[in-house]
Formats: sequence, C-alpha cells, structure tokens
Amino acid sequence: MQRIVILGGGTAGWMAAAGLARTLGTEGRSITVVESEEIGTIGVGEATIPLIETFHQILGISALDVLRNCEATFKLGIEFVDWGRRGERYLHPFGPIGADLNGVGFLQHWLRHRAEGGAGAYIDYNLESRAAMAGRFGMTPLRQPGEQQLHFAFHFDAALYAAMLRRYSERLGVTRVEGMVQEVRRDGETGEVTALVLRDGPEIAGDFFLDCSGFRGLLIEQTLGAGYDDWSEWLPCNRAVAVQSGRLSQLSPFTRSTALDAGWQWRIPLQHRTGNGHVFCDAFLSEDEASATLLARLDGPATIEPRMLRFVTGRRRKSWDRNVVALGLAGGFVEPLESTSIYMVQSALAKLMAMFPRGERAHPATVARFNAMMATEWERVRDFIIAHYKVTERDDTPFWAHCRNMAVPDSLAERLTLFAEESLFIEQPHDLFKEPSWASVLIGQGMMPKRHHPVADAAPLEALDTQLGRMRKAVAARLAGLPDHAAYIDQCISKA
Ligand code: FAD
Repeated sequence: MQRIVILGGGTAGWMAAAGLARTLGTEGRSITVVESEEIGTIGVGEATIPLIETFHQILGISALDVLRNCEATFKLGIEFVDWGRRGERYLHPFGPIGADLNGVGFLQHWLRHRAEGGAGAYIDYNLESRAAMAGRFGMTPLRQPGEQQLHFAFHFDAALYAAMLRRYSERLGVTRVEGMVQEVRRDGETGEVTALVLRDGPEIAGDFFLDCSGFRGLLIEQTLGAGYDDWSEWLPCNRAVAVQSGRLSQLSPFTRSTALDAGWQWRIPLQHRTGNGHVFCDAFLSEDEASATLLARLDGPATIEPRMLRFVTGRRRKSWDRNVVALGLAGGFVEPLESTSIYMVQSALAKLMAMFPRGERAHPATVARFNAMMATEWERVRDFIIAHYKVTERDDTPFWAHCRNMAVPDSLAERLTLFAEESLFIEQPHDLFKEPSWASVLIGQGMMPKRHHPVADAAPLEALDTQLGRMRKAVAARLAGLPDHAAYIDQCISKA
C-alpha cells in the first residue's frame, strides 16, 4: 500500500487530491489530505486561464459543473486600465489574433498595413476581445467554415471550487483529516519526511508528500529548507488587500486590472459577488492607505472586512526535494496579474503525473529534471509579468518611475529588444504565453515594433486590405451571434 499525504486543503491541495485520485487511482494506494480549519485557506485565487479546461476534462468536470457549483462566470481575457499611460486601456485576450498569411504570422501583416495607415487595432482581429468588450459569451453553434468557439477560462469562488474538488476527491476514495500539523517526522538517514504529527496527537504516516501548505511551505521550506529565489527586485509588490462587494450590474466576461499609484487593483465578477483586491508595494504605500484606496474605488459597498495578505514574489529553488513536492503557494508566487498561480499548480501536477516514481523513490535524475522544468516555467511566467511593469510610459509616481527604470532579467531584456527592434517573438520551451499574448500586452503598453518581416511586403496593399477586411468581418459575424454573458449563464443554470 503506497501512502500519499497532501498537506493543505486550499485550491492546490484539493486540485492535487482530485488529479491524483483520478489519474493514479486509490487502488493499492491511500491519498490523505490534512488541513486545518483554524488556519484556513488564502481565500483568493478566483481568476484562471483557458488551460484549466484541460484539467477539468481529465477530471470529467464540465463547464456547467463549474458554473453551478462555484458561482462562476466566463473570462475571455484581462482588461488593463492605466498601465501603459494614464487614461489608456487595452485588453489581453485569449484565443488567436488574426490568421497567418503566406506562411508569415498575422502580426507582420498587421504591422505592414498599419505602417501604411490602415489595419485598425491589433486586437480587433480577435473574437474574444470583441466579445469581452460587448459583454457577450456563449457556446453557440458554428455556422461558417473556420469558425471557432470562444477560448475561455473561469472566474470562480475559490472556496466553492475547493469544496467541489473535495467532494469529487472523497467520492474517489480520498480521506480528509482535520487537524493542525505541529511536528514533522523525518527519516534519520535519508532526511525524507515520514509522518505529520497533529496537535491533538495522531500521526499521519506517508511515503510521498505533497506540500500544499501555502506561503508557509511547512514541509518544503520549514522542514527541508529547499530555499527560495526572491524576485522582489523585479516584482516589488509584496502586499495585497482583498475584499468582496456585491454582484456587478453588468457581468463582464473579463477580469479588470487597473494600475494605481503604487500597484494595481483587480476586479473579478462572479455570479453572487465581486472579488476585489489591491496589490501594492509597502515601500511606496502603507497598508492603511492601500485599504482605504481600495474601499473608495469599489463599484458597491464592501460585504466583508478587508483582509491583508503579505508575500514575497519568487519561487522555491527545489519544487521537489526528497519525497516532497511543493504545489501552489508553497512552490512560489509571482503576483496574480495574469492569473497564473492555479495554472502553475496544474502544470506541476501534470509533470508529477508523468514523472511519478516508478518504485519506492524517484531517481535523482527524475527529480532534477522536474525541478529544471518547473524553474524554466516559473521564469517564463515571471518575465511576462515583469514586462507589464517595465514597459510603461508612466513615471508619475515614485513606484512607476522605479518600475520603468529598473533593470530586468537578461532573458526578458532580450525578448523586449527582439520585439521592439524586429517584431520578433521566438517561442521557447515551457512558454505559457505565446506571441498573441506578448504582442497584445507589449503593444497595449505602448511598445510598437519598429520593423516588420519583408515577406509581409510581398502582396499588393489592396490584396492585404481585402484579406484583413475579411478577417474583421468574420469576427463581427461571429460576434453578432453571441448572447449576452449574464443571460447565457442564467440560461445554462436554469436548463441544468
Ligand atoms: P492556501 O489556500 O493558503 O492553502 C493552504 C492550506 O494548508 C490550508 O488548507 C491550510 O489550512 C493548510 N495548512 C497550512 N499549514 C497547516 C498546518 N500546520 N496544519 C494543517 N494544515 C495546514 N491564483 C490564480 O490562479 N488566479 C488569481 O486570480 C489569483 N489571485 C491571487 C491574489 C492574491 C492576492 C494572492 C496572494 C494569490 C492569488 N492567487 C491567484 C494564487 C492562489 O490564491 C493560490 O495559488 C491558490 O489559492 C492555491 O493556494 P494554496 O492552496 O497553495 O494555499
């Protein structure tokens, strides 16, 4: 009997339990989740990216299940307000932008057309951004060849999402133990974790442990000392104040991120309420000021007391150490700006499934490979987030002047140079965000590439104009058939 113990029952812990129970099964294996109601969960983490659907498909959970159980809404992208310059806004949408022509990416043709005075906005060629701005969403029948369903993610109530996954996991045989872990036992020779000792006495022994204990990293850091790479020099925000307010009158199918004087504010629309938060850096703004700013900017009165969360951006040096794998906040945190944390849980889980120890313990080469893959993925996400702060024309507050002038990692500096000078985006292994994402954010923040690829000059301008016009019409035609987002959710739920 193999004993897997998951410490933590937040989003990470229950995602791990559900994923393991579904893929590895509980035949010949026990899966136990230990969580403490007294400590509770972080309670935020309500916006996702489309890859979450892959996780749900593996579990056999439908979009309707998520809508019904988690007060969820659909998300088509993120609207960024006041990021590049005050008074400007742009969308980072999901889904493809335009279509390749003559073997060359759409961005090159768009840049050429733009250089000659035409083309419209880059994201006018993206269905998700048009639907988001129009407040529409629906999985309606496809009528024309080449039409696609919207690429979507969810906004959901994190507590309800964890509860749904808990029910799912328990149905598959996962055991939940309530209690506070007070001591961790280790093998004297190998240093491996052998058991969690609860405050009230009982011990939970295991062979393999997942540390989903949140920022405290009780096993991976406090017990094994895996180390942490601190990224505050590039991602200086280290506080977030979170609060809930009532349901929005317009249920927008996108997250809003508004740049403020020393950080930014999120707004996440759910069916029953709105999630709000202010992420900031305490070197530039006090906790009291940050809370007051957030409360003054809500769309309606707060329905709970504001909660202050403190963190240090960075990642655990070893995600896998001995017989412990860290998932969720125990593994690292790079700000919620692009809703990547829940995805990072999913990604680590997928890798763990593929590389799961075949025998009693994993080969050191497996552990090293897992850690190298996680490190690269974290760094790619980190660079994308830093780009939002670095590529700005704002210097109207000390915080923004700092971000605009800060040095960035070499990997990001290279990306920015290639894009600005040559409109080049070279995809690299473990890139979560691809060209449409980088281009919509960098262009949205005010970085317009200087040159386009010469092949884009090959076709006569009139022909390009016609092709781009067709693309815009196709987007408009599909948009016209989409229902109102809120009405669509109501219809789905009432039909179920
Ligand atoms: P937690 O929710 O903190 O869970 C930790 C668990 O460990 C709890 O069950 C706790 O009881 C248990 N535990 C800890 N110590 C002990 C002990 N000694 N004994 C027993 N049990 C113990 N992610 C996104 O993808 N999208 C977002 O929009 C997003 N927004 C965020 C906003 C902010 C401000 C922050 C800080 C994070 C955000 N995240 C977001 C990240 C997201 O919240 C987390 O990745 C996700 O909730 C997973 O958290 P977790 O399960 O690792 O930790």
